[in-house]
Amino acid sequence: MTARTQSPSWHDKAASLAIDGRAFINGQRTTSASGETFDKHSPIDGRHLAPIARGQAADIDAAVASARAAFEDGRWAHQPPAARKKVLQRFAEGILAHRDELALLETLDMGKPIQFARSVDVPAAARTIAWYAEAIDKVYDEIAPTGRNALALITREPMGVVGVIVPWNYPMIMAAWKLGPALAMGNSVVMKPSEKSPLTALRLAEIAIEAGLPPGVFNVVPGYGHEAGEALALHMDVDAIGFTGSTRTGRRMLDYAGRSNLKRVYNELGGKSAFLVFPDHRDPAKAARTVAGSLFFNQGESCNAPSRVLVHASIADEFVATVTAQMPAWQPADPLDPATVMGALVDEGQMRTVLGYIDAGRSEGAVCHGGQRARTETGGFYVQPTVFDHATNDMRIAREEIFGPVLSVIRFETEEEAVRLANASSYGLQASVWSHDLNRAHRVARALRAGTVHVNQYDEDDITVPFGGYRQSGNGRDKSLHALEKYTELKTTWLRLDDA
Ligand code: NAD
Repeated sequence: MTARTQSPSWHDKAASLAIDGRAFINGQRTTSASGETFDKHSPIDGRHLAPIARGQAADIDAAVASARAAFEDGRWAHQPPAARKKVLQRFAEGILAHRDELALLETLDMGKPIQFARSVDVPAAARTIAWYAEAIDKVYDEIAPTGRNALALITREPMGVVGVIVPWNYPMIMAAWKLGPALAMGNSVVMKPSEKSPLTALRLAEIAIEAGLPPGVFNVVPGYGHEAGEALALHMDVDAIGFTGSTRTGRRMLDYAGRSNLKRVYNELGGKSAFLVFPDHRDPAKAARTVAGSLFFNQGESCNAPSRVLVHASIADEFVATVTAQMPAWQPADPLDPATVMGALVDEGQMRTVLGYIDAGRSEGAVCHGGQRARTETGGFYVQPTVFDHATNDMRIAREEIFGPVLSVIRFETEEEAVRLANASSYGLQASVWSHDLNRAHRVARALRAGTVHVNQYDEDDITVPFGGYRQSGNGRDKSLHALEKYTELKTTWLRLDDA
C-alpha cells in the first residue's frame, strides 16, 4: 500500500497548499531587498516547498525601522493592557482557526508527524499567546516603602524593539514563548525564524495582523543565521534579543551584543538532561516507558530530551529491556499519515550528525540497539529510535547534545554517584528523579543543577512554570510570568511630596 492511499487527505492538502515565502515587514509581504531567495525542501521526501526570501542586513534594517516607528508612536505600546489583551486573544483564536494549515506547514517544513503538529504545536502556541494576553491586565507594579514625603514607583516598561531568533525543532511554540510576553508588554518584534523552518512564523505574522495587531509591531525576516540573524543581533537599534538555539550560537549572541549596543541577550540553549532511576521506585517499567516516549517524541529533537539515563545497576537489565521493547512503536513512518508518531529529521545535515554520533557510540564501546537510517526510498531523512546500553558518562554520546532519537543508558551503584554523574555536564536544562522515597527524591532534586527537575514524571509541566537552564543551557526563563522580566525594563520614579 502506498503512503498516499494511507493518508489521502493530508497528502492532498499538501499538494494544493499555496506557500508564500516572502518576508513580512510593516504589515505587508515583501520580497527581499536584494530579490534573492533560497529554496526550501521538505525533509519528509525532499519535495520543493517554496522559494523563501533571503533576508540580509537591508531587510533587517527595514524591519527594525518599522518596529521602531511602531514602538515610538505608541500604536501598540500605549494601548491599555486590556486593549492589548483583546488583540492577543483574537490572535490566539486565529491560530486555532488555522490549525490544519499551520500544522501542515510545520510538518512539511521540519518533518514532525502531522498528528503532533496538530494536537501539540498549534494548540500550545495558541495557549501561550492566550495565557500572556489574559495575564497582562492582572500584573501590577510596585510602590516602595518610603517615608511620608516621597512616593517611589517601581514600574515595568517595554524594552522597545525585541529581536527574536528561534530554532526549527518547535518553530511555532518557540516563537510563541517569545512573542507572548514581548507583545503583551507592548514591545515591537522582529523575528528571524530558522532557515530550516520559516513557514509558520510568516503565517503567524499575517494572522496577528488580521487579529488587529498594528502594522510594524510584528515583523518576520527569514534568512540564514550568518546573514539575517547576525544583522539582527548586531543591530544598534534592537534593545533585546530573545534567542533559542544551540549553545554555539548562543555564545555568538553575547559576542554580538558586546560588539554593538550591549543589548540584553536571553539565551535558551541546548541540553543533555539526566533521568535518574532509583531501585526504590515502585514501577521502573513506567520510568522506562516514560523516558522512551519523551526521548523519541519529536524525533529526539527536543532541547529537554532526557537523553542521559542513569539507572541503578540492580534494575538496569530489566529497564533496558523495557525501553527497547518500546522501539517498534516508534519506528519512523510517513509524517503525513495521521497514525505516525516518529517523523523525519529536519534535514540531511542533521541526519548525518545523528548517524555520526551513533557511529561514535559504537566505536567507544556502548551496546547499540537500532541505529540505522530508515525510509531511504522516500528521499527523506529518517533514523530509527536508538538505545545505547552500557554507556559511560565520558563517551561523546553521553556528553554532547545529539538532537536525534538516541538514548544513552549509564549504570550507577550509589545515590552520590548518580548525582555526581548527572551534574557532570556543561548543560543544566532539565533532569528527572524516579524514587518513591520522598526524602531521597527531594534530596536529589535539590542537588541537581538544572532549571527544571521532574519527579516521577517527565514533560508534565505547563505554561505556568519557568523554562530555561543553568550553566551553558542559557540564562533567563521562557514561560510563566517570569518571562515578562526579559522584555521589560524596571523603572524607579521617585516623587518628592511637599510636607502635608
Ligand atoms: P542554531 O543555533 O543552529 O540556530 C538557531 C537560530 O539561530 C536559527 O534561526 C539560526 O538561523 C540562527 N543562527 C545560526 N547561526 C547564527 C549566527 N551566526 N548569527 C545569528 N543567528 C544565527 O540551533 P538549531 O539547530 O536551529 O536548534 C537546535 C538547538 O536549539 C539545540 O541546541 C536545542 O537544544 C536548542 N533549543 C533550546 C531550547 C530551550 O528552550 N532551551 C528549545 C528548543 C531548542
